[in-house]
Amino acid sequence: MVLDILTFFAHPDDETVFGGGTLAYLAEQGADVHYLCATRGEGGERGDPPLCTQKELGDVRGSELRCAVQALGGRSLSFLGFQDPVIDSEGNLYAFAEDEVEVVRALEAVLRKRAPDVVITHGSDGEYGHPAHILAHRAMMAAVRYTQGKKPAVYTVAPFYENAPRPGLANESDRADWVLDITPVREQKIQAATCHRSQHGLFLRHASERLGREAKISDVILDEEALSLAFDPGIGSNRDPLGEILAEIAVQPFSN
Ligand SMILES: [Zn+2]
Repeated sequence: MVLDILTFFAHPDDETVFGGGTLAYLAEQGADVHYLCATRGEGGERGDPPLCTQKELGDVRGSELRCAVQALGGRSLSFLGFQDPVIDSEGNLYAFAEDEVEVVRALEAVLRKRAPDVVITHGSDGEYGHPAHILAHRAMMAAVRYTQGKKPAVYTVAPFYENAPRPGLANESDRADWVLDITPVREQKIQAATCHRSQHGLFLRHASERLGREAKISDVILDEEALSLAFDPGIGSNRDPLGEILAEIAVQPFSN
């Protein structure tokens, strides 16, 4: 049986930054990985120098995500159609909907139609606290809880664990069930990150500050990713449907 996986992220690039290696590996192992993105990242950075106008950014980032999904071996890409608000002059970040119920309903409809075995989405603290990531996480957890049909297992990205390479991007409220060495698919992850051209300024500026020298895309790619099993539909037994596949690249031992 082919494992059907649905990923749900707030913006183009989240899939690569937080789970690109894991997702490429799962596809390589024969899973069907489908990508659902809440927005086209319309409000984000436009590149350094800008690649397009703010108005064109949604189309540009939509195409960048298509390129990344291909690099990661994904089967399909769709958008939930929410609008990503523009980052304000003070750098404040915003969620893509004021009404969480609206997002839950849209996700419930997707779950009913697609009935995935597994969902992979944002962590409960929105990684570095991004309100759009937190909304995406909350809405997906609620949609899975409320859905009348088949319930998928839900894994969240970037849980915190001791010695996590970038603790600033880890969800402190989430427990890591898997820490993964993604070096076998490092090239695919670099390729996917390279697709997100409009975000390179953002990726490299932070990395250069951290490293104290000019950073390259390969410098920002983490060799370790982690997952938390946030919802397990198995009754009484820990099914962990990705367990068998992930065991091959699991970092052992790691301590929470
Ligand atoms: Zn994001």
